[in-house]
Amino acid sequence: MTSHNINCIGVLTSGGDSQGMNAAVRAVVRTALNFGIEVYGIYQGYHGMFLGGDYIKKMEWDSVSGILHKGGTIIGTARSQEFREREGRLKAAKNLVEKKIDNLVVIGGDGSLTGANIFKEEWPDLLKELKEKGELSDQQVKDHPRLKIIGLVGSIDNDMIGTDWTIGTNSALKRIVDAIDIIESTAASHQRTFIVEVMGRNCGYLALLSALSTGADYVLIPESPPQSDNWEQEMCDSLKASREAGKKESLVVISEGAKDRKGNPITSNYIKDVLKEKNGEEARVTILGHIQRGGPPTAYDRYMSTMVGYEAVKYLMKSKKDERSVLIGMKKNKVKTAPLMESVKLTRSVAELEKKGDFKKAVKLRGTTFQETLEIYKSIQQSLSKNKKRNGLNILVMNASGPAPGMNMAVRAAVRYGIDKGHSVFGVKNGFEGLIKGNLTEMEWMEVEAWTSLGGSALGTNRRTPAHQDFYLMSKNLENFHIDAILMIGGTTGYKTIYEMFQKRRDYPKFNIPMVCLPASISNNLPGTSVSIGADTALNNIIDAVDKIKESAIAQNRTFVVEVMGKECGYLAMMSGLATGAERVYIPEDGIALKDLKRDVDLLTDMFLSGKSLGLVIKNESANETYTTQFVSALYEVEGGDLFDVRQAILGHLQQGGSPTPFDRIIATTLGTKATEFLIRKAKQKENDCVAIGIEGGYVSFMDLVDIPKIYDMEHMRPKEQWWYKLKNIAGIFEKNSPGK
Ligand code: ADP
Repeated sequence: MTSHNINCIGVLTSGGDSQGMNAAVRAVVRTALNFGIEVYGIYQGYHGMFLGGDYIKKMEWDSVSGILHKGGTIIGTARSQEFREREGRLKAAKNLVEKKIDNLVVIGGDGSLTGANIFKEEWPDLLKELKEKGELSDQQVKDHPRLKIIGLVGSIDNDMIGTDWTIGTNSALKRIVDAIDIIESTAASHQRTFIVEVMGRNCGYLALLSALSTGADYVLIPESPPQSDNWEQEMCDSLKASREAGKKESLVVISEGAKDRKGNPITSNYIKDVLKEKNGEEARVTILGHIQRGGPPTAYDRYMSTMVGYEAVKYLMKSKKDERSVLIGMKKNKVKTAPLMESVKLTRSVAELEKKGDFKKAVKLRGTTFQETLEIYKSIQQSLSKNKKRNGLNILVMNASGPAPGMNMAVRAAVRYGIDKGHSVFGVKNGFEGLIKGNLTEMEWMEVEAWTSLGGSALGTNRRTPAHQDFYLMSKNLENFHIDAILMIGGTTGYKTIYEMFQKRRDYPKFNIPMVCLPASISNNLPGTSVSIGADTALNNIIDAVDKIKESAIAQNRTFVVEVMGKECGYLAMMSGLATGAERVYIPEDGIALKDLKRDVDLLTDMFLSGKSLGLVIKNESANETYTTQFVSALYEVEGGDLFDVRQAILGHLQQGGSPTPFDRIIATTLGTKATEFLIRKAKQKENDCVAIGIEGGYVSFMDLVDIPKIYDMEHMRPKEQWWYKLKNIAGIFEKNSPGK
């Protein structure tokens, strides 16, 4: 057990609730218990801290069982006027000291975190006063000289500087995008215009990202108000032009905090009136409201909240007594700490900048990803370049390998970015087969309009790898269509074929053009990237299914063995295991040995004997060739005897299908745009780079295809080093009967 100097932690959720708060509470409680630290749940936020008594409850391992999939917060949240006053905080301090709590993990928004910091700063004085009043003893005051605070940002708005994501944002974004997809389908049937208002206070994140994900015609956000004096007319013209070009519906997304350049609020009703007056349109307004906050958290929110909750306890364990308060969040997909009050101050300064009209600085403070997303949105959505003259390059775009949700969005981004820059984009039907047969057609701006929510591959894709003689036909077709650059969006077979084309350049000079492989595979097993398009959707499909499967077993002693896809990469199994609270995860990287099965049967037996009624094991499809899912289930069933029964669930193709999540739509758009930008630049310079695009360390990256064998395990078709593999140790912390314990 790690040495540390803390005995007791309190955890509370405060302010507005958000999806994922439960996962954070669970992580704090279980990590603390794992390290032998007492942990208290403070119910109803600061209100409960002020009231004390039963509002401050000791938490056990099972106090946080079965809550990962629940929206809201099981320990409750509230707003507390009393805590805003010193008197209230005095009482709260007494209540904490009586329970020996001098470490707090506060999960809330900027208000809650500010309150926490004030409390921390006042703590020595508060305790002194309590001693003078005789309410605390000398010893009690001596034992708790300082209060340590860790802030975890719970807010759907994603407005906190210091973290790329706040707890709940990913789920809120998904809720918004799902709602808009539904609205768009009815709007299209009636040829209507919809104005959808989303939450976010002073932050336009939810509005911008949902507009990008759904292909909204226009977006209004507080950080970047329309620049022109004539913006209302321009917006109406743009909507009209889209309709004339064949779009069936129009959609404007507006952030609840949207303002004009002078700082005057722009309301949804104002937009409605403008559309009526200038376009004669009877637009419908939908204010999404609280559905954005509710419901089960997404896989990402469960994962991220687990990570920051775990890190909060680890940080408290190693921090010094008088260290300043920090918040723990995610930066470029890594857990990072940031000074709490500086972050809160910067966050609040954005609102000030918006008020003052300094929008440039406001956007800058939101970070580079926000800025870039805004640029991409303008280029591929708001742009009026639909009918632009094309006299530049001919870019080929294709899908290959199995379908991955989000592929269409990447093609859409490439087509629109290419056209916006004055080039022609040719789509290939059915992967390399289409290139062999010469099934290429020039793509139009409006053709890809409705591809945002479309699962599968609209261009068509397959796993055919060209045979020797096919390369000649491919080369011929590239020549016939005067292709200057190739964008292949797909999985391992696509990468392999592009690599072969690269190797055959001497035989086929037409292959001497820039080529980019863009990662799209639910397995997330591709080289040169930490994420591939489709994996997030698959993960969410899995957790939806597992949540339902778990519910089917209420009040029975049952273990489920759920088999997930992933080929020889355990990403989906590991991440879904973390997000659903599985007892065990079997991945191909580790395989399954007979001794593991024996150990796990014993652990499951112990678990059911100690009163648990449900077990969950997630197994990757290729974890072991011989110990199949059927075998493992049968073995558990026999060994479980009368104590528990076993059901297997092989999830199959539901993982691969469906509408892409916003996360997949966003990375698809970013990578599709950046890849096309790269190809245009290289083709203009007559360079013939052959690369894999990806996201590494949170940034878009390019890797030469020739370098792939160095970092890629060709036999198992997965990167030699996988960033998520070390999560295994963290997952172990949350398994009650983990072998390490
Ligand atoms: P959020 O945390 O979501 O921003 P609020 O701003 O409503 O939500 O804050 C939640 C609670 O945090 C408040 O009800 C209050 O108890 C406490 N709080 C907020 N600001 C302060 C402050 N300046 N001083 C003390 N307590 C505060």
